[in-house]
Amino acid sequence: MSDRIEESSEKKSLNFIHAFVEEDIAENKNEGRIHTRFPPEPNGYLHIGHAKAIHIDFGTAEKYGGKCNLRFDDTNPVKEEVEYIDSIKEDIKWLGYDWEDREYYTSDYFEELYAFAVNMIKKGLAYVDDQGPEEIASQKGTPTNPGTDSPFKSRSVEENLNLFEGMKNGEFEEGSRVLRANIDMASPNMHMRDPVIYRIIHSPHHRTGDTWKIYPMYDFAHGQSDYFEGITHSLCTLEFEVHRPLYDWFIDNLMEESYRPRQIEFNRLNITYTVMSKRKLLQMVNEGLVNGWDDPRMLTISGMRRRGYTPESVKNFINSIGYTKVEAINDFSLLEFAVKEDLNKKAPRVMGVLDPLKIVITNYPEGESEEMETINNPEDESMGTRMIPFSREVYIERNDFMEDPPRKFFRLGPDREVRLKSAYIIKCHDYKKDADGTIIEVHCTYDKDTKSGGAEANRKVKGTLHWVSVPHALKAEVRIYDRLFTDPDPDGHKETDFKKFLNPDSLKVISGYVERSLANAKPLDYFQFTRLGYFNIDKESTANKLVFNRTVALRDTWKG
Ligand code: ATP
Ligand code: MG
Repeated sequence: MSDRIEESSEKKSLNFIHAFVEEDIAENKNEGRIHTRFPPEPNGYLHIGHAKAIHIDFGTAEKYGGKCNLRFDDTNPVKEEVEYIDSIKEDIKWLGYDWEDREYYTSDYFEELYAFAVNMIKKGLAYVDDQGPEEIASQKGTPTNPGTDSPFKSRSVEENLNLFEGMKNGEFEEGSRVLRANIDMASPNMHMRDPVIYRIIHSPHHRTGDTWKIYPMYDFAHGQSDYFEGITHSLCTLEFEVHRPLYDWFIDNLMEESYRPRQIEFNRLNITYTVMSKRKLLQMVNEGLVNGWDDPRMLTISGMRRRGYTPESVKNFINSIGYTKVEAINDFSLLEFAVKEDLNKKAPRVMGVLDPLKIVITNYPEGESEEMETINNPEDESMGTRMIPFSREVYIERNDFMEDPPRKFFRLGPDREVRLKSAYIIKCHDYKKDADGTIIEVHCTYDKDTKSGGAEANRKVKGTLHWVSVPHALKAEVRIYDRLFTDPDPDGHKETDFKKFLNPDSLKVISGYVERSLANAKPLDYFQFTRLGYFNIDKESTANKLVFNRTVALRDTWKG
């Protein structure tokens, strides 16, 4: 399997985007300069879809010795907040990228953009429309029928200049007027039908305060910002393909030089059993349906970090699916596979018991204990060994014992033998039940010659169980996550709100025991709990109360 991932990332490393870039380099376009940008709107936390964009934006610059800017596309003061800017920066760094001193804001260009708009008015390429959004929409036409001209389309330059200045100075109410590009209401491309390029917003902006009462629309701001920054390749998702003629139109009409940024579109990342839009994630956060933006069940970057996913696993996953021109929905289990593959190499093995059943080893001396040496990671010898305490009483997993086991059950049962990992072979001779018939204690004997490294260390038994010593065990809260939605495509139902598909059992909190060595583990440290899965320490964990997240189970628990 690991070969398969490497091979496919190898094969896809020259994706169609890089093929275009190499074409441009071969033609010595922009003197061979490569400059990309990642342009998030600071209106929420980043999700795994953004990681796909970040990898191609920063990754392309890295691969071709170019640069990548971080540009906050902050043109809507109503939805944007400084908290989001800080989280976005933290998340990009965690993914392993650095924009160095190239941190820009579209709001840095408000003066220039305004000057361009004035310039457009002077050239007859823009006009102030006094109609409201409904009237404007009603004149748009359909893809097969041309729209109709606004009654304000033929306003004089003079009047347009005066009104636009009035808009800028806050003389008009929000929604009462807009500035539109004067292009063609009959264009087959709906985006070219006199798009709105400025709107009135009176809310203060997180950087420019009350200076502006008008804000540029995405289409007007984006291409120009790319131009100002000398971007050579403006990579974005497929929904912007239809905007490209407009992107080029503004630049062609406003810029004198021959340099042009080139917009290239690729497919969005979609993953089963998740929603992938900041607006929807924000709804879940605001309505308390999840515990914040970094809830480990969400595929936000902060949620994945908190859950124990590694940046490398996210990158390997994205490389394994690649960049194409075709929209698709990828299986969540592919992501989990990438996480397991990476953690298998990196995570120290420890023992934890999540549903404890007490074993008493009746021939082991009371009050004594000993230290057993055990390997930290069989995949990586350099991670060394540690000592774990063994004593007369240990916990095993409740489902590792059966009163009346079938023949093929290779775990513990009456008169059966198993090995306790890194310790001894034990044999069950008795067990105790409470009044309800629940087994509360299992009695075994141990064979002291079977100690790892001892005379009969190699004696074979069918099963090896994980365990923790009762007097040495640390109590731990363990959070077990399941898919957040019950439907593979919660967003794909026109009639039903995506929130109707929330899985009521997506979080289970249980209490278990872990081995002594975890006493000093710190938030984000990750481990493999032998036989169970990968777990990490949650940020809410304290010295008095350890809290773990299950990152992913060892076996695939996803049915679809
Ligand atoms: P959302 O709908 O989640 O808010 P967005 O596209 O509005 O996403 P932006 O902050 O505007 O978010 O996006 C920044 C960059 O990330 C854009 O270039 C956008 O194309 C890219 N991006 C956003 N979502 C995805 C996705 N699911 N897959 C790949 N790239 C994405
Ligand atoms: Mg957006």
